[in-house]
Amino acid sequence: MAQSEITPFDWERILMDGHSAEFLLEVALRAVVIFVVVVISLRITGRRGIKQLSIFELVFILTLGSAGGDVIFNEDEPMIPVFVTFAVIVSIYFLIVYLTSRNEKIEKWMEGEPLCIIENGHFVLKYIEQENFSPEEVCMELRLRSVEHLGQVKSAVLETSGELSVFFYPDEDVRPGMPTLPWDREPLEETEADNFYACARCGETEKAALSEKFTCRRCEHPRCMKAKTGIRLD
Ligand SMILES: [Zn+2]
Repeated sequence: MAQSEITPFDWERILMDGHSAEFLLEVALRAVVIFVVVVISLRITGRRGIKQLSIFELVFILTLGSAGGDVIFNEDEPMIPVFVTFAVIVSIYFLIVYLTSRNEKIEKWMEGEPLCIIENGHFVLKYIEQENFSPEEVCMELRLRSVEHLGQVKSAVLETSGELSVFFYPDEDVRPGMPTLPWDREPLEETEADNFYACARCGETEKAALSEKFTCRRCEHPRCMKAKTGIRLD
């Protein structure tokens, strides 16, 4: 329909657009069939839930969803082509599972690799420099584990599932570190003598000898945060 022929706020068009009430029954039937086919496809491939989806599995589920979406309510979309689409998607899934189980390179490319993003209480530089790295997101994950500052964390691994595995220092080895709580993360440019400061970018922590302008000795970032010192309590 051309733009000029549309009457805005025409409720008949917005709600039914000329379809009969019986068509709603057909939509209901189509929805049931597609729902069952999606469930069968997920069961065949052994998926149990959406937690810990790898990118590959996410694409698989999104593709199933978009292949099944339109056919539910478009009266001129027949269902057999959708079934063929589902069969092909499920076959591709099995082909990729087969290939990744046989070839480590393909597996790494498809699934990604676990990344050690925190080492010895600060962020690993090569990951900070990547555009998609978000220290704020990592701090959120750490807060969910009752981590008040990075000095409590010996290492943290970003798993291919997107989850963060965290390994802690024993209490006696906890050092001053970058705070994770939002109200402690105010960036400063100047230090006061004898306090510990963490680089606002990489988390490198040092004791300020003088009251002076801050420059990170590791990444040369010009801003810092007051470091936190407590041990982990939970
Ligand atoms: Zn730094």
